[in-house]
Amino acid sequence: NTDFGINKALEVLSIKPVNLGTSTGSNQFSNGKSIESISPIDGQLIAKVTSTTKADYEKVMESATQAFWHWRKVPAPQRGDMVRQFSNKLREKKEALGKLVSYEMGKSYQEGLGEVQEMIDICDFAVGLSRQLHGLTMHSERPGHRMYEQYHPLGVVGIISAFNFPVAVWAWNTALAWVCGDVCVWKPSEKTPLCGIACQNIIAEILAENQLPEGISNLIIGDAKVGEFMTKDSRIPLISATGSTKMGKTVAQEVAARLGKSLLELGGNNAIIVTPDADIKMTVIGAVFGAVGTAGQRCTSTRRLIIHESIYEKVVTAITKAYQQLRIGNPLDESNNVGPIIDTDAVKMYNKALKQVVKEGGNVLVEGGTLKGSGYESGCYVKPAIVAVEPHFNMVKQETFAPILYVMTYEGTVENAINIQNDVEQGLSSAIMTNNLREAERFLSVEGSDCGIANVNIGTSGAEIGGAFGGEKETGGGRESGSDAWKVYMRRQTNTINYTTELPLAQGIKFDL
Ligand code: NAD
Repeated sequence: NTDFGINKALEVLSIKPVNLGTSTGSNQFSNGKSIESISPIDGQLIAKVTSTTKADYEKVMESATQAFWHWRKVPAPQRGDMVRQFSNKLREKKEALGKLVSYEMGKSYQEGLGEVQEMIDICDFAVGLSRQLHGLTMHSERPGHRMYEQYHPLGVVGIISAFNFPVAVWAWNTALAWVCGDVCVWKPSEKTPLCGIACQNIIAEILAENQLPEGISNLIIGDAKVGEFMTKDSRIPLISATGSTKMGKTVAQEVAARLGKSLLELGGNNAIIVTPDADIKMTVIGAVFGAVGTAGQRCTSTRRLIIHESIYEKVVTAITKAYQQLRIGNPLDESNNVGPIIDTDAVKMYNKALKQVVKEGGNVLVEGGTLKGSGYESGCYVKPAIVAVEPHFNMVKQETFAPILYVMTYEGTVENAINIQNDVEQGLSSAIMTNNLREAERFLSVEGSDCGIANVNIGTSGAEIGGAFGGEKETGGGRESGSDAWKVYMRRQTNTINYTTELPLAQGIKFDL
């Protein structure tokens, strides 16, 4: 089958290929401008969708607000049950959704399936959480008083997501928000709107089966302008935004201007430190997958390798050798390792970055470039490149969202490597490859990595849903997914109850009438 089952997948997800118009997804309205979804795999137009207008948005907000008044009163374990049903539906549609993710975004089918699995995992987590939205009780300083805290639903949560994880990021947010009693309005990336529509179709089915208002889950489509409807809207107490640092800086200011809360998941510039005590085989696997997986378009992609000078030649030789074996091509064909990047603008940015780093003195070890010819007609296939650099180069300090790996040396002790690693604006993921306990512990200590994620003997790329996910500095400081990340989706209330006939004041203050 030459279409790799794409048409079948679209059918399962109720997506009408080419000229989708306004009929799919009940939050799709009629008068907005048209957005074309083009696959980076083959350059084909998959479908057209309409952008949400301001008037459409008002209808969505009306429906979301009404739904919230109902949903917040549904007991949390029952909300969890709805999420359980949603995850079952995801299990049924996993192959179809994984395929659409791959076709619309360009990552491998395996990674597309992995994204859907992540959605299922966070739903399972959320189901358990729905019975564990615990607050604490405290001892009151006043006699005959009881004090405790509880968490209430927050309201309408706005979710803005990036193209590179077109479905999982939504699920990380929405599954938790739903069990917390919130309703969500989601604006997926304008580069992957069909993934958004497919997800909305799936949840709409579950909500209808349960006679629940569809406004519990809402979809709006469009670019930054449509995102702005939400960031400026004081009816939305929390905006969770995933994307570039540039976007995060704008969103943070818009939301702060109305004293709303924002949860920001922004760019990374992730490094692996390779010490003389590293396992070289593991290092090569971790570094190569980290740098070329998803064609270097993960927020946790490995961008920098900081290698001890004593093993630099050995490590770089092994990695460049591994790069020679990479198969670049259609990511739906499972024999390929690297697919396309998102669009031709991204290709331009990649080429510009390579040119720039060479200008700064970078020494190209594995040549980059755009692939042409049969199978590469979309113009989005680029060669993963490796460049030897100095850590202070401008390009090395930036996130280029493409498969470019910068390699550099450090001398002396691990402290020097940690200093290089931390000396960038971003603070998402970091890793050390070492079998030396002292080095590993130093890396994890207060004097170690300044990132939100710090791994030992694992690459930087990918994370499990059980931990809180996010990063420091220009990565935005937000945490989502596991651990106690759920608390951001709720409002905390402290309650003090006096069960006596006296009214003692706090801090022993006397106030005699
Ligand atoms: P992007 O910033 O171009 O767009 C992200 C989303 O923000 C899109 O939906 C876009 O329409 C919206 N947007 C942009 N400007 C906006 C504004 N002013 N107001 C409201 N919405 C706005 O990012 P992208 O190219 O889609 O994704 C790549 C970036 O995302 C990379 O920097 C990557 O590191 C980052 N990312 C971070 C994480 C994380 O968890 N830290 C996860 C995935 C991607």
